[in-house]
Amino acid sequence: MKVLKFGGTSVKSAEMMKQVGEIVKNARAEGQVAVVVSAMSGITDQLINVSTLASQGNDTYQQTLKEIEKKHLQCIQELLPPQHQTRTVATIKMTLNELEDVLQGLFLLKEISPKSRDFVMSFGERMSSAIITEYFKTIGLDALLADGRELIVTDDNFGNAVVDFEETDKRIRKYFSRTDKLIVMGGFIGATVNNETTTLGRGGSDYTGSIIAAALQAKMLEIWTDVDGMMTADPRKVRRTMVLKQLSYIEALELSHFGAKVLYPPSVQPVLAKNIPLKIKNTFNPAAEGTLVARESVDNGSPIKGISSIDTVALISLNGSGMVGVSGFAKRLFSALASGRINVILITQASSEHSITVAINASDAAKAKTLIESEFVQELKSNALEPVVVEQDLSILAIVGENMRNTPNVSGKLFSSLGRNGVNVRAIAQGSSENNISFVTQNADSRKALNIVHEAFFLSDTRVLNIFLVGVGTVGGTLLRQMREQQEYFLHEYNLELRVTGVANSRKMWFDENGIHLPDWKNVLDNNGEAMSLGGFAGKMHEMNLRNSILVDCTASEDVVDLYEESLQRGISIVTPNKVACSGRYELYKRLKQTATQRGAKFLFETNVGAGLPVIKTLNDLTQSGDKILKIEAILSGTLNFLFNEHKAGVSFSSVVKQAKDLGYSEPDPRIDMNGLDVARKILILSREAGAKKEAKDVVSENFLPEECQKATSIEEFFTVLPKYDDHFEKIRSDVEKAGNRQRYVAVYENGNLSTGLRVVGPDSPFYQVEGNDNLVLFWTERYRVRPLIVKGAGAGAEVTAAGIFADIIRIANF
Ligand code: ADP
Ligand code: ASP
Ligand code: MG
Repeated sequence: MKVLKFGGTSVKSAEMMKQVGEIVKNARAEGQVAVVVSAMSGITDQLINVSTLASQGNDTYQQTLKEIEKKHLQCIQELLPPQHQTRTVATIKMTLNELEDVLQGLFLLKEISPKSRDFVMSFGERMSSAIITEYFKTIGLDALLADGRELIVTDDNFGNAVVDFEETDKRIRKYFSRTDKLIVMGGFIGATVNNETTTLGRGGSDYTGSIIAAALQAKMLEIWTDVDGMMTADPRKVRRTMVLKQLSYIEALELSHFGAKVLYPPSVQPVLAKNIPLKIKNTFNPAAEGTLVARESVDNGSPIKGISSIDTVALISLNGSGMVGVSGFAKRLFSALASGRINVILITQASSEHSITVAINASDAAKAKTLIESEFVQELKSNALEPVVVEQDLSILAIVGENMRNTPNVSGKLFSSLGRNGVNVRAIAQGSSENNISFVTQNADSRKALNIVHEAFFLSDTRVLNIFLVGVGTVGGTLLRQMREQQEYFLHEYNLELRVTGVANSRKMWFDENGIHLPDWKNVLDNNGEAMSLGGFAGKMHEMNLRNSILVDCTASEDVVDLYEESLQRGISIVTPNKVACSGRYELYKRLKQTATQRGAKFLFETNVGAGLPVIKTLNDLTQSGDKILKIEAILSGTLNFLFNEHKAGVSFSSVVKQAKDLGYSEPDPRIDMNGLDVARKILILSREAGAKKEAKDVVSENFLPEECQKATSIEEFFTVLPKYDDHFEKIRSDVEKAGNRQRYVAVYENGNLSTGLRVVGPDSPFYQVEGNDNLVLFWTERYRVRPLIVKGAGAGAEVTAAGIFADIIRIANF
């Protein structure tokens, strides 16, 4: 004997019922078979809905009832040959008349009891089983319809009835012993000894299957559903889940207990007791092997089998000195909860015995609070206990696996991966059997936490970076192109998925949790993007709450910097070429760095100095390895260097400035480069990274621009004024050249002093041979006392800057 249970989606339509017919036929060809079916998908919810509406005196229930009728009648029409339809239609209509009468009663009385609710809910399975039985007969199967209410005997805990196994098993065996036919029955429903209809809890058809299988000592219970088996996590919430080949009963039980809906938790017990293997199979893909649940767990290469979650959890805490050393507190607490039939999902108790916290279903919270308050009324009055605390909007997550107890550091890995991504854990419990570790988080963090943990345990070889890019001008646009070109490479060579989940320019913003298709980013942003606002961008980024999120700021804006702190607080890393934050007030720079460290996020700004050159990284490597910086001497403006290199005999200075702007080497306003401000900011940042507590005013800067140029009120005006000084600049240039020297704009940090200024250097100076827009940085340190450590190369341009930003992004993946 084999028992096959088909879930709601497996019988949701005529087409699916035909598929079920094929599967059952194949099974029947091999021996005895019993079939248990759920209600057609969505019907149980609709039945609850109609009963609620009716009991509220809302006559729109009739509309929903019509929809229920229509769905079943349409299925019959599409499923059965015309000559078989009349009888089945009549059966369904009669059944629906019965339902209508009950609803009419609820409507008139304006009330509903758990008992009548169960009665209404029973109609879904009663109708689906009747239809499919008739269909089986038309395809040559010797089907016989059984009514769950005659076989499954329960108590009168309506909505979640407890099965009387002795009586139930007796009835099932007797019923099946009388026939060799293919028995078909609706799951989920039972009856009390007084023939009152009961239900076994939502998802309870699995349980019916298991009860039948156990009573008949079946050789297998197959649960046919809409996924390929039990997966490492809920595929609706987590991407790239994997099907588990084999699980132990305990593992399946724990995963389902903590929310893996694919199996109703109580259904494990009956088959476990009889050691009957259970298989989860996909009706939509019967060829897939499915998941076998049996006594043994098999190694799947990970210390855990899976992770599951429940999103409707409340925590109730009982605190107070009155609990210390007094025995029986916990017992009284649990008795109080049990008296209200409240299911406790998780328990934690501080070792000081000063507090007990339990997680329960959110819908039970109010009832639980009342029960606890009445149990402990004296203690609360005398202040031996503090008022009962209820926290709502929580989720419980659990990792499950028998192999966990043989593997060290599972919880270390679990909580460090959550911590790195800014997920706050409210409560933790580890079963002493070490088959699971469960923890409570805010609802808002649940999906993110699932993905983080899933990635940490199953995809440790594949990581995802979720990138939110503000600013898609020259540098941002180049970055997107570079990422597009390297996406495949990172995925295949490093199992790293670069996902651009948000982009924005000053006008529009666009988000896609699955990653924007990079070749189309411009079109998508222009055509689909919504109006950009920084608050809106940040709000969406926070709401998406994705793990490994990075905010990439490719603007030069002060406003975007306002987003940094809160983002870091939320565990979102920042990568930016924008110098505003690091060269602004020292206090802000310091606070951002500290926040990043505290929240496990990264704040990387390599491209603030020397574009893509590893200047800050080198400086950090030196100081972190214990070296001491004695002096930094550097050409830090690719733009100025370009100006001095390209300004030659016969070429006017103003035309070179224009060229630098057109090539994107200079700031939009070239004066920011020429007045030394940009260089001052960079040397300031380097000094801060070297440990100095300096402000912008501490940099002594030399400005070689004539006053009239500085005073120009716009960029355009500046370019009309500048040519007046071409002769002035030409004279300086030719004098320097005649003496065999060159002009350089050099920044220095030494003995706590910061300065920038023009320097005339001869051929023996390292600054002499710095071509084009190159930068050169000399680090004089205790270890590099005699000759400095030198970093040299292109220090401006969209390609190298974007590459530097890209490198920072990749560094985050490598931490
Ligand atoms: P049925 O109607 O067949 O009983 P259910 O909806 O009750 O189906 O259960 C199947 C669903 O369970 C899947 O569609 C899937 O979305 C969900 N699910 C949640 N967690 C898991 C998991 N770990 N593995 C597989 N499916 C899961
Ligand atoms: N139809 C019931 C429900 O939706 C039972 C089941 O499908 O297992 O909960
Ligand atoms: Mg189910």
